[in-house]
Amino acid sequence: MNIHEYQSKQLLRDYGVAVSMGHVAFTPEEAVEAAKKLSTDVYVVKAQIHAGGRGKAGGVKIAKSLDEVKGYAEELLGKVLVTPQTGPEGKEVQRLLVEEGSNIEKEYYISLIVDRATDSVVLMGSEEGGMDIEEVAEATPEKIFKEVIDPVVGLTGFQARRMAFNMNIPTHLVNKAAKFMLGLYDVFIDKDASIVEINPLVVTKEDEVMALDAKFNFDENGLFRHKDIQELRDLTEEDEKEIEASKYDLSYISLDGNIGCMVNGAGLAMATMDTINYYGGSPANFLDVGGGATAEKVTEAFKIILSDENVKGIFVNIFGGIMKCDVIAEGVIAAVKEVQLQVPLVVRLEGTNVDRGKQLLNESGLAITPADTMADGAQKIVELVG
Ligand code: ADP
Ligand code: MG
Repeated sequence: MNIHEYQSKQLLRDYGVAVSMGHVAFTPEEAVEAAKKLSTDVYVVKAQIHAGGRGKAGGVKIAKSLDEVKGYAEELLGKVLVTPQTGPEGKEVQRLLVEEGSNIEKEYYISLIVDRATDSVVLMGSEEGGMDIEEVAEATPEKIFKEVIDPVVGLTGFQARRMAFNMNIPTHLVNKAAKFMLGLYDVFIDKDASIVEINPLVVTKEDEVMALDAKFNFDENGLFRHKDIQELRDLTEEDEKEIEASKYDLSYISLDGNIGCMVNGAGLAMATMDTINYYGGSPANFLDVGGGATAEKVTEAFKIILSDENVKGIFVNIFGGIMKCDVIAEGVIAAVKEVQLQVPLVVRLEGTNVDRGKQLLNESGLAITPADTMADGAQKIVELVG
């Protein structure tokens, strides 16, 4: 789960991590009020959306007066921002962060991630801040430094200082930077975060070391322990279909193709998407109905798939293990009738009671195309969709 920049900054403040001062605003009037509370004459008005790259897309504005703050707030609120991270449809700005303009000396990059290769939390830092870190990793990988953190010991002062030196933080500010990193690590662990990214971390002309931007991602499996974080969820930033799916415990991720997929098991779902791609098709979604899919779940899954108007056909690929194929077939038949399916449907069943399942589908009189193997099913749905 993601949260907004202003929420991330509040969380960091709570842990004594230095961030720029600012307040959230939902209207131009609130933006002016927010600006009045700041002791500065340079304000920064920042669009709050769950995506980075706002600066280049015109979502970060420098204002020199309260009038300018109001003007920029009016311009940004309601505007659809398109950044490399939003996708082509963009995201509508509904909240702003009005904060103090910083006197930036230099921008750096710092983040904490869960690293699969080392099975550890890794601190990453670079003196190439403010820009796309993937580009830095590509062009000048030697400028990205890593500290692998021992989970028992935690991030040590030594590691944090070594990182600060590697990042070429001015020597007299190394301790401030190290303190920043140690605080960042504490929040990360306490709140079960999976990513925290500070881009940029800045050193100011007044010798401050602080976060100008902050992005958190939290592990959803840990959210039940953090009511405070759950409350920060902004549903308007999330895909409606994904929210609906989560109510029924379905793992659903929408994609931009036109073949709806209904599969049980994440591994099979991935393989199904690959197979569709292999035969020249393009999946509209990833959907794992889980091991214990009931007829009700299958029906909900159909509804969610069909609420995507790009879907021109559906491929059901189910392995009946704990769940028997005849039960699944009944669920599919019930769902097809209930949603009055208008697009082609290919069903491939395998596993326990497969013959009975296939027989039920045949006898249903519905326009269901049976498939014997995954490859057969993928080919058929790609052909039917055209
Ligand atoms: P994004 O990563 O979405 O583009 P940032 O918050 O990183 O948004 O802002 C982009 C750039 O705008 C920063 O790299 C920095 O140069 C500038 N900026 C952002 N906030 C401030 C601020 N409070 N004072 C001065 N400059 C800022
Ligand atoms: Mg940024």
